[in-house]
Amino acid sequence: MFPSYRSRYLPAMTLREIAALPDKAWAPVIVVCGAIEQHGPHLPVAVDSLLGQVWVEQSLARLPADASCYLAPPITIGKSNEHTGFPGTLFISKDTLRLQLLAIARQIHAWGFRQLAIIHTHGGNFAVTGYTLREITATYGLRCGVLSPKVDLGLPAQEMAFGYHANTAETALLLAVAPQYVDMSGAVCEYAGSITDPGQLRAERAPATMAWITSDLSKSGIMGDATAGTAEQGHAWVAKTAQGMADAIAETCRVGRAAVGL
Ligand SMILES: [Zn+2]
Repeated sequence: MFPSYRSRYLPAMTLREIAALPDKAWAPVIVVCGAIEQHGPHLPVAVDSLLGQVWVEQSLARLPADASCYLAPPITIGKSNEHTGFPGTLFISKDTLRLQLLAIARQIHAWGFRQLAIIHTHGGNFAVTGYTLREITATYGLRCGVLSPKVDLGLPAQEMAFGYHANTAETALLLAVAPQYVDMSGAVCEYAGSITDPGQLRAERAPATMAWITSDLSKSGIMGDATAGTAEQGHAWVAKTAQGMADAIAETCRVGRAAVGL
């Protein structure tokens, strides 16, 4: 019924348990922001939401003893309007996402928490949470941030530049954590451009970028080389990323304690 991290999952607690938590002044409440959206012909549409649960489970297992955190219910439907036109995409508006985050922040502040952190698994939510976290800090005085460890996956330059979605990394991660949901017969390599192309105007990760929706860049829904993902890589990347996430949570706790003089 409840996830393995029940002792840190706020919806699994009674009101008395929440009231009695001893570390609300510095332990962050984490909101995992995912998506339900097309991930090409080979991956389930819940990839981003599923990976959010993987990062939580795996990073909590690595959390040092002096760190703490609590989990709000995840936001599973995100701001995914860029993937419209493909079956399988659900999305809420940027305003709904903002209001949902504000509602969570208002209540956890009222319960006594003073830190909020986001774990992102879907790029389309970044821009909205960026300005919303600032609004939350200004409105409620909560310290807010994003947990996003920088992990070098050792990907080729072409994938680094053009592997945006349902790519080598996401395919490998799913092969590692939920292989029964992957159909590699649908995996293809589809890039919106090449690193050998002249000019630097690209969809992402370039000096000049453009606003895009997926149908501008991809026929299959894949942006990257899905055929290159392996379970072996996936297991290594899960471990690396989860450790980076645990370190980021611990750092948030350290800064949170310092902020209240502990
Ligand atoms: Zn994804």
